[in-house]
Amino acid sequence: MSLNFTNSLFFRQKWPQQCFLCAAACRHDPLCVACQQELPRLTAPICAVCATPLADNAALCGACLRHPPAFTHTVAAWQYAWPLDRLIHAFKFHHQFSLLPVLAKPLLDRLRDQPAPDVLVPMPLHAQRLRQRGYNQALLLAQYLSRQMNLPVLKTACQRTRHTTEQTGLSRSERANNLRHAFICAATVRDRRIALVDDVMTSGSSAHWLAQALRDAGASSVNCWILARTPPNDA
Ligand SMILES: [Zn+2]
Ligand SMILES: [Zn+2]
Repeated sequence: MSLNFTNSLFFRQKWPQQCFLCAAACRHDPLCVACQQELPRLTAPICAVCATPLADNAALCGACLRHPPAFTHTVAAWQYAWPLDRLIHAFKFHHQFSLLPVLAKPLLDRLRDQPAPDVLVPMPLHAQRLRQRGYNQALLLAQYLSRQMNLPVLKTACQRTRHTTEQTGLSRSERANNLRHAFICAATVRDRRIALVDDVMTSGSSAHWLAQALRDAGASSVNCWILARTPPNDA
């Protein structure tokens, strides 16, 4: 794959029959077969709780052993690494919605043998950020999974009540404190088994604090369904 992302965006917009990453001829999908096959799948061994890649076959990562998060289990399809990160960025910030099925189908495959939740809850954006971006990529992903799996989405059950400062550049503990009490959830989640849907899990703090808010509102269990997990050294 030779690629220049700026050029790829340009090609994608001008000639939609070309691969988003390498601009090779590509009749239907936004990515050619070669680029799809080279995308970085998340493979075992991974932590049973947060899906972070592990160096050995331990069941849990050190972070989950020391501080068990409020969610129980995480299913993820991809490593958040090049060039998958480019695809997620384009889907998340640049309206490249045709990439969603490419990103989500491998997650769907991994969810087939998972116990079905009662409802899907997308990671909410703060209202201010939603106005800036125009859409919530986690909601789009949840709606895609909802259609494929015939599960309901609780679109407005949870809100991000604090416009938290940018997480990038903060340490793990700073991120955790930054997000404490950032979410509130309605009573509609009571006694429900929840699948929390998001595009990327980095530190896991957002997922932890949303899961905690869901549990505080009476949810019976929370699992995370995410597209991509960051490598441990990025957390
Ligand atoms: Zn390609
Ligand atoms: Zn873990």
